[in-house]
Amino acid sequence: MNEHYPFVNPPLPYAYDALEPYIDTKTMHLHHDRHLQTYVDNLNNALKDYPELQNLSLEQLIYNADRLPSVIRQSVINNGGGVYNHIFYFDGMSNSETRSQAGMLYTAIMEEFGATERFYDEFKKNALAVFGSGYAWLVADKDGKLKIVKSANQDTPIVQNLCPIAVIDVWEHAYYLKHYNERAAYVDNWFHVVDWNHAGELYEKCIASMQR
Ligand code: MN
Repeated sequence: MNEHYPFVNPPLPYAYDALEPYIDTKTMHLHHDRHLQTYVDNLNNALKDYPELQNLSLEQLIYNADRLPSVIRQSVINNGGGVYNHIFYFDGMSNSETRSQAGMLYTAIMEEFGATERFYDEFKKNALAVFGSGYAWLVADKDGKLKIVKSANQDTPIVQNLCPIAVIDVWEHAYYLKHYNERAAYVDNWFHVVDWNHAGELYEKCIASMQR
């Protein structure tokens, strides 16, 4: 995606039907083409009269939100977060059913949670515990320790100096068409489409950035 304003909605890294039968084609169209597009449009709209902010990256805007002009601050948090979180979510899925048991991330999950089942249980518990709209994340903290955290609305964990590895969007628009109000069924299906190779690469980048 563009490094800075005007931000664009990047195409999905796979076909709209690639995640079937777990995440349906219609939801992917709606979620990517309408919901994410709206966040992109609203973010650009918020920044259009602020040339001094138009060279900042998405991460810089979100991370330094407390220094933004107060009239656009919440809009940038909401819409910049909406762009960041959705791209992170879409990029973190694939149809390859990767269940890699190799690499640093798998080792770290085993160390932190003892067994993959315990990790899945813990992740699901957090995804179900998001009240209203938000996300559940697998992150690394500043010591590289794995954590599962929740975020509300379009907040992102990068503002708490947490390094994101994997995320599930639990806003109702992410699952309502297929799963109605059954968030748990959606979470179970999401586990089938997590791209663990991608998550593993992000984890290794998180660790490398801490050692700089
Ligand atoms: Mn969403």
